[in-house]
Amino acid sequence: MDRKEHEAELEEFRATIRRFATDAFAQKAAYWDEHEEFPAANRALLARLGYLGLVIPEEYGGSGASIEHASIFLEEIARVCFNTGLICQLAVNGPSRAIEILGTPEQKARWLPKCVTGEHMFGIGISEPGAGSAVTDLSTTATEDGDAYIVNGQKAFCTGGTQATHVLIFARFGKTIGAKGIGALIVEKGTPGFDIGHPGPKMGGRGVGEVELFFENCRVPKENVLVHGDAASTKSFRLLMSSFGPERVGNAAMCLGVAQAAFDLAVSYSSERTQFGRPICEFQGIQWKIADMATQIHAARLMIRHAATSLEDGFPKPLDAACAKLYANEMVQRVTNEALQIHGHYGYTREFPLERMVRDARGFALGGGTVEILRNTVAALVYGRSFDQRRG
Ligand SMILES: Cc1cc2nc3c(=O)[nH]c(=O)nc-3n(C[C@H](O)[C@H](O)[C@H](O)COP(=O)(O)OP(=O)(O)OC[C@H]3O[C@@H](n4cnc5c(N)ncnc54)[C@H](O)[C@@H]3O)c2cc1C
Repeated sequence: MDRKEHEAELEEFRATIRRFATDAFAQKAAYWDEHEEFPAANRALLARLGYLGLVIPEEYGGSGASIEHASIFLEEIARVCFNTGLICQLAVNGPSRAIEILGTPEQKARWLPKCVTGEHMFGIGISEPGAGSAVTDLSTTATEDGDAYIVNGQKAFCTGGTQATHVLIFARFGKTIGAKGIGALIVEKGTPGFDIGHPGPKMGGRGVGEVELFFENCRVPKENVLVHGDAASTKSFRLLMSSFGPERVGNAAMCLGVAQAAFDLAVSYSSERTQFGRPICEFQGIQWKIADMATQIHAARLMIRHAATSLEDGFPKPLDAACAKLYANEMVQRVTNEALQIHGHYGYTREFPLERMVRDARGFALGGGTVEILRNTVAALVYGRSFDQRRG
């Protein structure tokens, strides 16, 4: 396929997803937020149509779509319904992608086909109450015992943990500290010793809650180990973290979708709303806001496109992915805020979706690595060395 054909194919894909998302998800987008309800029907529809398996290889029943297609998909779904976008991001760039990259053939055959059909839903448990940004301080342990590992510890903020059938958790294999010895294993819901907390009220993304996970002498079979923590080196930890590279690009693409939706509303509202006898879009103060928003959206789109296409060994380069997430996380906050401002008090009411978009936009700069930690990552990649954040 030449470049022109490729562009045309991408645009057709975008148009298909946009039509689908608008028809299927627009009507209840506010409902999931208002009622803090998980959009289970939307997930079921996505599964029926094969979208949960968008990037999973064809041999496991998926569509094997590219990171570029996944970005467009996530942008267009989040543009219409943020909570449904969260479900898609979890399916496209969550644990199933880590399984695809790091799993054994048996593990892939065991879990991936059921991710495509929606029978399996995986949550991810990395953060802990005492280890958020400092992931390598995590204290959950996996101790070898015959044909299993005994897991003890607590995880925090597991997105979709209530609905998940399985969770991929990071744990410490053996008595190590820091990044050494960190690996990951998959725990099935219902395993004795594994309990799930209740989602608390939160600001945005209210249809998909974050929950705590509790492990007390939880016996996990050895075949559920995705990456065995290597006590002698940081290799296993680095391997795990790198498998989440596409997640950053997907996160940025969702920001783009939310920002685009807010921007479109601001353009049409400012064209219709009159003050001082003329549409407010005729005031230069409004035009410059729109121009700044358009510029930032354009920049984010180019960064995401670049990160999704300039691949190294099939994956986004770490610098490109970190820059794209960092920029998009802050861009979506600025754009949704300005869009609300352009709507005046109407934007501040729940009659309009702007206040919801502002709330939804806020979480991006925290989840999947805060913007501060991303700045550390970008700086380390620029200097070609990591800077120890610890005192002393
Ligand atoms: C919507 C959402 C969904 C999430 N889903 C999941 C999930 O599914 N699974 C999961 O495991 N986790 C999830 N998280 C948790 C997320 O990964 C953590 O919130 C994040 O890593 C930050 O950890 P913390 O909240 O404990 O903040 P802390 O690490 O305590 O940080 C507090 C503040 O200090 C800053 N800070 C910390 N260290 C440094 C430093 N060295 N330099 C500069 N600033 C620093 C941080 O950037 C932040 O602003 C989710 C979070 C959100 C908001």
